[in-house]
Amino acid sequence: MATARPRIAVTAPAPKISDYFGSQIFGTKQMKESLAPSIFKKVMEAIDKGTKIDPATAEEIASAVKVWALSKGVTHYTHWFQPLTGSTAEKHDSFFDAHAGIEKFKGSALVQQEPDASSFPHGGIRSTFEARGYTAWDPSSPIFIFEKTLCIPTIFVSYTGEALDYKTPLLKSMEAVNSAAVEICQLFDRNVRKVTPSLGVEQEYFVIDKALYATRPDLVMSGRTVFGHSPARGQQLEDHYFGTIPTRVKDFMMDFEIEAHKLGIPVSTRHNEVAPGQFEVAPVFEEINKATDHNQLLMDIMDKVAEKHNLKVLFHEKPFAGVNGSGKHNNWSLITDTGVNLFQPSNSARENLQFLTFVVATTKAVYDYADLLRASIASANNDFRLGANEAPPAIMSVFLGSTLSNVLDELEKNGNIKIEKGDNMYMKLGISKIPEIILDNTDRNRTSPFAFTGNKFEFRAVGSSANVAGPMTVLNVIVAETLRTLAKDIEKEISAGKEKKIAIVNVLRKYIKDSKKIRFEGDGYSEEWEKEAAKRGLSNKKSTPEALDIYHDKKTADLFNRHAVLNPKELHARHEIMLENYIKKVQIESRVMGDLALNHIIPTAIQYQNKLIENANGLKGLGLDNKAAIETIKEISKHLESLKLNVHAMIEERKRLNKVEDVAERAKGYSSAVKDAFFEKIRYAVDKLELLVDDEFWPLVKYREMLFIK
Ligand code: ADP
Ligand code: MG
Repeated sequence: MATARPRIAVTAPAPKISDYFGSQIFGTKQMKESLAPSIFKKVMEAIDKGTKIDPATAEEIASAVKVWALSKGVTHYTHWFQPLTGSTAEKHDSFFDAHAGIEKFKGSALVQQEPDASSFPHGGIRSTFEARGYTAWDPSSPIFIFEKTLCIPTIFVSYTGEALDYKTPLLKSMEAVNSAAVEICQLFDRNVRKVTPSLGVEQEYFVIDKALYATRPDLVMSGRTVFGHSPARGQQLEDHYFGTIPTRVKDFMMDFEIEAHKLGIPVSTRHNEVAPGQFEVAPVFEEINKATDHNQLLMDIMDKVAEKHNLKVLFHEKPFAGVNGSGKHNNWSLITDTGVNLFQPSNSARENLQFLTFVVATTKAVYDYADLLRASIASANNDFRLGANEAPPAIMSVFLGSTLSNVLDELEKNGNIKIEKGDNMYMKLGISKIPEIILDNTDRNRTSPFAFTGNKFEFRAVGSSANVAGPMTVLNVIVAETLRTLAKDIEKEISAGKEKKIAIVNVLRKYIKDSKKIRFEGDGYSEEWEKEAAKRGLSNKKSTPEALDIYHDKKTADLFNRHAVLNPKELHARHEIMLENYIKKVQIESRVMGDLALNHIIPTAIQYQNKLIENANGLKGLGLDNKAAIETIKEISKHLESLKLNVHAMIEERKRLNKVEDVAERAKGYSSAVKDAFFEKIRYAVDKLELLVDDEFWPLVKYREMLFIK
């Protein structure tokens, strides 16, 4: 079956990508073409400065959007938003007004909508009497057509104004980092008026055959295989299976790439395999809000297109034990409206001081707020990828590469050098020249969770199924905070009579010294690093509920509040939602494990054991040696017993924990008393049985079959 699938033909709408790139979006180009210049100007202002769009303008835009959408055969529209469930949500309305007998689209419908959203997580913000939220258009992300529906990117807030989604705080964090960064840039260049964070997301994923997927209740229910013996666990999967992408997957890649291009997502698929069955896609970086929407949309597209090719995409962080997990590498940088990437070293000494200021500030931010950054990537899924067996640790550290590290070390040392009038300070400090290409291929560290990669930082610990808005909001905010403090500290030095450049260098020196512990250039996956990090006093929070505790801190609440990103009420709600999401996830996995064990594995193993018993008796009747059969029978019994015992004990634990009132305590219970206490034990017994029971009998599709599709 899976091997005999027909190929699905893929044809591009035109030979050149540029002929159809963005054909399904109502972006700047389409707006400029279809709107009156005065209206277009207002939209651009709304995008650049966040100004409100007045009703008359909204009316004009809506009518242009409608004409465009109808010309593309679109019949429905929806506000498209990112609730805290982690996926995207929409509620479709028809353009057709049955009353009037014509298609209508009002400005008010463009700007605002009230989805029946009482079922979205809200962490107690919307009590039942005010169980209404509304969605509001975000003009900075283009309107698009997906599956014959006009989708309007929106934020999602409660009637009392609290954010109920990922996008609202992300937009606010962009503003926070913008204003803080502009203040610093002004020390170097008065012309800088705006700084925009940009993001390029490298997305990893697995692809398996749709039919095989459907036979695995664990994959369907929880996104990962809770059982399954990896071919020779702990060892590498055979290399010779590896390296060529199956035709079917290639077709799928081409197909989703076309769909993404139509939606203006600048993807360039990478035709490489990371692990067997695992692939990667990366778009060219964009402004962070757009990049986030595009990543969410891309996952939706991939899901839909895979279906067509009889495939299933797995975005789970660890779908298969013993095989590489999946992440989303978040390539992040700050770019000025004068076109300068603040993380790009240059030949100009002055610009280099600015570059170093931003590198040092970011490093210091990660040091000061490592726990918050860790919390921003915490999820039940990602726990299997970070801090677990066969996975990188959950320790935050920064990799700068040897060149940049040396520059910082020099700066720290030479900062004491006395600079006389007429001296070339940059020369004296050793920062007059920083090689423009800092990292060559030998100077790349793939094991660092947060690495400087030449002209950007790459946050690699983000999970493959996560909405990147979460971690990116935190990164923007902590960098904003550090830049603010940095500006104040520089100001203090200047007030004390220091020359500006000297003031900057003095502060940088101090920051370099203070944040030194977070810098690590070695193998982040090694045991030595865990020990070394502990010695340095860096935290290593292995479980999500533990990592999330930082949201309880007053320091965290103050930080988000100070930058007007989340107020304490919103933050508290988010914390609760994350804990509840965690509990639900572990609960589902635990149930799937129990059900599979009791209804599929145990009966199958008993059935097979009975065969063996018959066989053993038969042998005995013939007067032959039946020791081997008896050994196997005994071994099966041993695992069966352990399996039953553990499954029942796990169910009892769940019952006990479900009565625990405090959600944080319940989450911690689920982590330690359910997941840690039983998952491995139960899996061990099942995976052993998989090896003992005849392949013909085994009720679950095996790893080998799932991972090596053709
Ligand atoms: P790698 O070598 O890690 O695979 P690439 O250079 O191919 O990295 O880039 C990975 C991602 O980083 C791409 O999405 C790319 O567009 C993005 N990227 C490149 N420069 C920047 C930047 N200045 N800011 C944000 N993202 C960037
Ligand atoms: Mg990368």
